[in-house]
Amino acid sequence: MTDAAPFRASVLTLYPEMFPGPLGASLAGEALNNGLWSLEARNIRDHGIGRHAKVDDTPAGGGVGMVLRADVLAAAIDAASPAGDMRPRLLMSPRGKVFRQGDAHELVAAGGAVIICGRFEGVDERVIAGRSLQEVSIGDYILSGGELAAMALLDAAVRLIPGVMGKSESGHDESFEHGLLEYPHYTRPRDWEGQSIPEVLIGGDHAKVARWRREQAEALTRERRPDLLDKRGRLV
Ligand code: SAH
Repeated sequence: MTDAAPFRASVLTLYPEMFPGPLGASLAGEALNNGLWSLEARNIRDHGIGRHAKVDDTPAGGGVGMVLRADVLAAAIDAASPAGDMRPRLLMSPRGKVFRQGDAHELVAAGGAVIICGRFEGVDERVIAGRSLQEVSIGDYILSGGELAAMALLDAAVRLIPGVMGKSESGHDESFEHGLLEYPHYTRPRDWEGQSIPEVLIGGDHAKVARWRREQAEALTRERRPDLLDKRGRLV
């Protein structure tokens, strides 16, 4: 492969036309055009079986729906990720470990990922161990396919690639980066529908502003996401 982008994503899907989709716009789209990352969407059906390029079959043991075949998926994975490809192989799955900000940083450090998007009832269990797939979820709800989940985690990772975010949009204070939710933001006009910008933000005392923001971030986190704090109210 001649592609030398610092972050390489290969997505295996039955709907390659969905990509780059939203990843082609704004920050991620500009970075894609500038070669800071690369994206190939590969059609699993290219490895389908027979004249109809069949990719799925009925579940062993009975039941509703269809299951993606292990042999078809393995052939697609082998073509996308030949021996020596060190990128992690992620299977989008509601059963997986829930994706967090730290995982986005890890993906960037790994230089990209091979991402498999399930459809129907999911995939034949054997391919998970057979091709060392890590199951990744984006939350406790069921999507109709892995494509939107893949886009969500690629978007989270791509913005962290060095050079993608300019200084002005840099993510240092952002929610989750320091284990806290972010403090509230304000901009012009100073008074809007009877609500004013908090006085401290207009006073010009940077130390006071920093303290106020920290307090706000802690209060918001305690109120909305106590799971991010330990029993003593400290960051976990
Ligand atoms: N029968 C499965 C759900 C299948 S949904 C179950 O109950 O666990 C079809 C596909 O959508 C999955 O194979 C997966 O690739 C994707 N998907 C659905 N919800 C997801 C989520 N929360 N996170 C990541 N991928 C998801």
